[in-house]
Amino acid sequence: MNTDVVIVGAGPSGIFTALKLIEERPQTRIVMLEKGLPVERRHCPKDKTGHCMNCNPCNITTGFSGAGAFSDGKLSLSHEVGGDLPELIGATRAQDTIDIVDKIYLRFGADSHVEGAGGNPAARAIRLRAIQAGLKLVDCPIRHLGTEKAQELYAAIEKYLLDAGVDIRFRTECRDIVIENDACTGVVAVGPVGEERIDARSVIVATGRRGANWLEGLCTAHHIKHEPGPVDIGVRVEMRNEVIEDVNNVLYEGKLIGYPNPFRNKVRTFCQNPGGFVAQENYDGGLAVVNGHSFKERKSDNTNLAILCSHNFREPFNQPIAFAQNVGRLCNMLGDGHILVQRFGDILDGKRTWEKELARSNVRPTLPDAVAGDITSALPYRTMTSIVAFMLAVDKAIPGFASAETLLYAPELKFYSNRVSMDAEFNTNVAGLHCLGDSSGWTRGLMMASVMGYLMGERLASEL
Ligand SMILES: Cc1cc2nc3c(=O)[nH]c(=O)nc-3n(C[C@H](O)[C@H](O)[C@H](O)COP(=O)(O)OP(=O)(O)OC[C@H]3O[C@@H](n4cnc5c(N)ncnc54)[C@H](O)[C@@H]3O)c2cc1C
Repeated sequence: MNTDVVIVGAGPSGIFTALKLIEERPQTRIVMLEKGLPVERRHCPKDKTGHCMNCNPCNITTGFSGAGAFSDGKLSLSHEVGGDLPELIGATRAQDTIDIVDKIYLRFGADSHVEGAGGNPAARAIRLRAIQAGLKLVDCPIRHLGTEKAQELYAAIEKYLLDAGVDIRFRTECRDIVIENDACTGVVAVGPVGEERIDARSVIVATGRRGANWLEGLCTAHHIKHEPGPVDIGVRVEMRNEVIEDVNNVLYEGKLIGYPNPFRNKVRTFCQNPGGFVAQENYDGGLAVVNGHSFKERKSDNTNLAILCSHNFREPFNQPIAFAQNVGRLCNMLGDGHILVQRFGDILDGKRTWEKELARSNVRPTLPDAVAGDITSALPYRTMTSIVAFMLAVDKAIPGFASAETLLYAPELKFYSNRVSMDAEFNTNVAGLHCLGDSSGWTRGLMMASVMGYLMGERLASEL
């Protein structure tokens, strides 16, 4: 088969490539390969069974809208958040495109309310406490879609693309790309009708965190220039809403960054979910990883957020994804295949947490199948020490944050470490091949992934 553009992955970066391209050039033939299901058919059986059924592929992370469908749907409206794309395209271009893409989200039904536009006296007071604790507070207005609204919104985009003639092939996995005379001329796909080669003028790989490992293999096999980037290893922290209420109310998401002694690795808070729920994601090979989300309507008594510690590896070992996966597997091993949970006080006391002890706290875990245990036996010393020091610093800015009952779930891992070398127009060293979104290593969130897709669509439209 022959087409103009193949997009691998129907996450935000792939979707926005198709959306911009089809709006600019409605006659363009676009084939979109997605190994998961249409957004309206994505259901996690855990809602009914109460525990993970290890679906393959996982409905939480695959399918139309990618990891975004079941995500909290927090659109970060600042170029300072969501990855390193501004390093590639410039901060002004990144911010200008965020503003354009935000309007597209509004057009498809996003809530017009923006949370956490700081600058008021309450926000200034939080910043002052952060400064006193030696932490940086990043200003970031947030448009909160909410998990259920995000699904409706992406369903509307899916319908729009299908109506516009985009050939979206669900349950179809890209196995390889085709390289001829140093240029990418197509892909090999496997779907319900079997294996097929699809030739195209441009191939866009936008496979998300889940596809980061696969893309790294592709880079090695086809000599696509890339370099190892940082990998983030950490925990998901959960506490009663009362503890962090003023940050939730004033900023919605307090983005704090520190470089705690003795290692001075970058440690940051990420993905704060007021009234939210801790969630489990499953990666290929059965790796269970913790995450979190919050609904627009249904609220819990707790707030959860990630604390991530960045690690770099270059010499002699340069496989950060493999390192993080092994840390994750160790956590899963100690949790007998489940997410581990431990109280902060037990970590300081050097003991594991027992199941019965969880019931003694004000905070009740919102991930019911997490197993009480000892995450300090699985996380590297450097990671654990940095997280403990960071939490004690955050406690000065948010009193109660590092209380004995605060829950730490592990492993929280972010696999965006393989960074594909590209120029500001997203050209790799292989003609016709472009890599976008979280799998490219340049983005880490819905908005930045969407921005990268939008710019890719604009660029393709200008050449076709
Ligand atoms: C639980 C959760 C909560 C989150 N909350 C937020 C949030 O509130 N705010 C925020 O900004 N970000 C959030 N994120 C992160 C956000 O969802 C991602 O950064 C974003 O979706 C990345 O977009 P992407 O297009 O790069 O990749 P993805 O959204 O991951 O999409 C990639 C797609 O490619 C498909 N794919 C992979 N490999 C192949 C292949 N070989 N062939 C065919 N298809 C393939 C996958 O099935 C997937 O659908 C959250 C993520 C999770 C999991």
